[in-house]
Amino acid sequence: MDGKERVIFHIDVNSAFLSWEAVYRLYHLGGTVDLRKEVSAVGGDMAMRHGIILAKSIPAKKYHIKTGETILEARQKCPNLMLVPPNYRLYEQCSKAFMDILRKYSPSVEQYSIDEAFVDMTGTEKLWGAPMEAANRLKNEIRDTLGFTVNIGISENKLLAKMASDFEKPDRVHTLWKSEIRKKMWPLPVCDLFFVGRATAKKLFSLGIQTIGQLAQADPAVLKSHLKKHGEVIWAFANGMDISVVQSEPPANKGYGNSTTIAFDVVDASTAKLVLLALAETIGARLRAAGARAEVIAVGIKLHDLSYVSHQMMLRNATNITIEIHHWACQLFDELWDGRAIRHLGIHTSRIRDGLDMRQLDMFETVDYEKLERMDAAVDQIRKRYGNDSVMRAAFIGRPIDHMSGGISREKRTVDYKKIQVN
Ligand SMILES: [Mg+2]
Repeated sequence: MDGKERVIFHIDVNSAFLSWEAVYRLYHLGGTVDLRKEVSAVGGDMAMRHGIILAKSIPAKKYHIKTGETILEARQKCPNLMLVPPNYRLYEQCSKAFMDILRKYSPSVEQYSIDEAFVDMTGTEKLWGAPMEAANRLKNEIRDTLGFTVNIGISENKLLAKMASDFEKPDRVHTLWKSEIRKKMWPLPVCDLFFVGRATAKKLFSLGIQTIGQLAQADPAVLKSHLKKHGEVIWAFANGMDISVVQSEPPANKGYGNSTTIAFDVVDASTAKLVLLALAETIGARLRAAGARAEVIAVGIKLHDLSYVSHQMMLRNATNITIEIHHWACQLFDELWDGRAIRHLGIHTSRIRDGLDMRQLDMFETVDYEKLERMDAAVDQIRKRYGNDSVMRAAFIGRPIDHMSGGISREKRTVDYKKIQVN
């Protein structure tokens, strides 16, 4: 596509939550059992996450235990399954130590989730050697200093690097250069391609498309007629096209936004809405501190499978009221979300109005907005004097979510594959 080819790494921690727990037990708690070698899993807290499997060991995979299924289902498959509870604080510490090592190798690191990152290694050959050599060095340094293993995928773009890191695990480096697509990617089943969910795979099967190679060689016009824009996107992916760049810095902020990578996959709407409330808290506070109100609210959801969806709406009245921002964000969320596991949530506000803004009166308006504004102002005052944690909504008590925005990454850009251009 262009003369200057890039070198992109995708680094993915092998069975992250489980490995981190295993390493912690071995090296810090004096344990002797390595959970990674046992039929084991991290199981969500019964009360909070309805007892869902959050991560499993490689031996547990042989019992077909799946992330996201209930502990009950997993126990039916394997009654001797060793279950350990989640430890989000530990995950955040491990994630940070992992990212710190990546940043030694390149200044261009995009944290994609708690246990995954893209690193742009273009032009680092003099420092770290050829891509394969650099990747092995990086992989081994993580293993030898932090005790857990990673897979590294190498390619010219993010999509192919991400595909490559998913090849044989654990503790492996794989390349998937564009020149290797035919050999390494095309024989794979079409559902292995990012963005090809179950529904899409079904449609592709009905068109006689079983492998990524068949998809790549299909007529894009036919795909478009059956799958609309999405057909073109997956056709481009199947041909290894991806022009998105590693986003180590958040983009220039024209509005006020905030997003967070959640320490665990969110699979229920109420937890997602609590995360949205935490985001609304910080955005509302920032708008109020600037004496501004927003007229447009957008919500973005990054799903477990690398896909990204977003939606925005224009408000009748510009606002900076926390619970009003949250209210509209939840409405957008309900329209957007299809139930798939969520990695990352964001709210962005734009069309910013400065200064006083008269709210248009609505005959049927029953909400006392002035009262809500006075409440926000009082909370802002208290937080300013006594710190952000001096006042907290009761909804956050006992939940693993930071009440002022949350998670490990406060301002992280996501891969917006919707904006991809197909050349
Ligand atoms: Mg992983």
